[in-house]
Amino acid sequence: MAEAKTADLMEKIVSLGKRRGFIYQSSEIYGGINGFWDYGPLGAELKRSLKEQWWNTMTREREDVVGLDATIIMSPKIWEASGHVSTFSDPMIDCKTCKGRFRADQIDEIPCPQKPSKCVKDCHGEKTEPRAFNLMFQTYVGPVQDDSAVAYLRPETAQAIFAQFKNVLDSSRVKVPFGIAQIGKAFRNEVTPRNYTFRSREFEQMELEFFIKPDEAIEAIHGSVATVPAMGHPGEPQPNWGWQAWHQYWVEERVRFYEGIGLPRQTLGFHIQTPEELAHYARATVDILYKFPFSKRDEKGELKGEELEGIAARSDFDLSQHARFSGKPMGVFDDELRAAWGKLPKEKQDDLWRRYFENRKKYLTKSGVENEAASKQATEDANGLAKGQYIPHVIEPSAGADRLALALICNAYSEATETDDKGKSETRVTMKFHPRIAPIKLGVFPLLKNKPELVKKALEVRDLLRPWMNVFYDDGGAIGRRYARQDEAGTPFCVTVDFDTLGEKGPELKDTVTLRHRDDGRQERLPISELRDWLLTRIR
Ligand code: ATP
Repeated sequence: MAEAKTADLMEKIVSLGKRRGFIYQSSEIYGGINGFWDYGPLGAELKRSLKEQWWNTMTREREDVVGLDATIIMSPKIWEASGHVSTFSDPMIDCKTCKGRFRADQIDEIPCPQKPSKCVKDCHGEKTEPRAFNLMFQTYVGPVQDDSAVAYLRPETAQAIFAQFKNVLDSSRVKVPFGIAQIGKAFRNEVTPRNYTFRSREFEQMELEFFIKPDEAIEAIHGSVATVPAMGHPGEPQPNWGWQAWHQYWVEERVRFYEGIGLPRQTLGFHIQTPEELAHYARATVDILYKFPFSKRDEKGELKGEELEGIAARSDFDLSQHARFSGKPMGVFDDELRAAWGKLPKEKQDDLWRRYFENRKKYLTKSGVENEAASKQATEDANGLAKGQYIPHVIEPSAGADRLALALICNAYSEATETDDKGKSETRVTMKFHPRIAPIKLGVFPLLKNKPELVKKALEVRDLLRPWMNVFYDDGGAIGRRYARQDEAGTPFCVTVDFDTLGEKGPELKDTVTLRHRDDGRQERLPISELRDWLLTRIR
């Protein structure tokens, strides 16, 4: 489909989204509301499937990750500690001519509302200087609407994980390294929502905070920190992994996840943030991009891709901030470290103590703590390390469910034009979703709807499989039409109950069905009794 991945492909996708019930504009009957989108019957199933895949991969199939489901509105102090109140803003400019407001760093891409052939940067409108615009939606909690009641709709799910870190640690049998995963809504008052659902004002995130030991603790326990190969998956987690190995591990794990739900590596791109782009506390961030049809192109005309997910090594910044702002300790006690420290030679102890002290002092001074107080606190922290205590560092793979749904829709879209004997041509769309995330897993058809025995058997097949997967029963129209409808919905398999199923051509075919594969139209005969397991191995 690479050749069709052009701007007009986006128009087709948006139109299919509405026609087939993947995505609708929110509040459409009232003219819509910019930056908000609803998922129709197929879109809701698609999104549910991809979130389930994420949840299973990131939590249930792992020993070292547990889940969380926190509230959207939290104490506003959380957003002071995280830095969102003071710094979560985009630069915005106003155009005095058309009265539009635009993100200052995107005016070379956004078309001028009055003269769409030009971008905002090159149009003649008179623009203001950029100014910071905080992206958090504000609301009030309780009946009095004054400053003391101000709260925010969360702009990310991650902070709740940090705020509940201690509770999770104390209430479950986890030990560093371990992670806490969460899926949930996030809200950002984006200055210029655009590209369909890509940049919305309400969206869902799938975030993991994976807590690890600081490198100084690893070195004290294991003698050294594992070195990582320059490229590729570093393999099964090892006790001597420091932040670099864990970061690389999560980047590669996430790429494997995308491959596993049908986004091959060549559809993805990578952006390694430069030191200038990195937040002061971050050690490294890799963005995984998907080559959307609307993505920017490089010098060779190749799509560069837009961010699907960021994987950040965020040091111990977040837990440290919450420890300072809440006054509650966020450190963990590590028996292994305490025992190992006591056996280290004095020079090694001094070296690790000094490095940990310097890192802590750097964090504290960058966060606005005065030099003397920072030295005092960093000394306490380094003394703590010598006794087996530290604030865990974190690796954060943070993905957007809506951007992923859009990437899967763009990637699945495929069309073919067929011309019949009379020269009449018809273009048919097939949504080639991976079975794991397809909204409907199986179409079930009786060959004819006016034959009660066929209908009865087909309904039996539907009811047999329903508890296990999303099944769609269809008895309307010719079989070819029914296949075409399921192809457009992206259903990977369809089964037809015919007279052979009833045993009319002999006992060998009794209770078997014809199973048709969406992508190549291949058909095979399968016993009804084997269908469930056959399908489960392909959709899970
Ligand atoms: P961008 O640079 O595109 O604004 P970001 O770097 O601010 O994204 P993060 O804060 O890292 O995004 O959020 C993690 C993920 O949440 C993103 O990779 C993306 O998938 C999703 N996301 C962020 N903002 C939006 C949005 N406005 N609409 C839809 N998804 C979003």
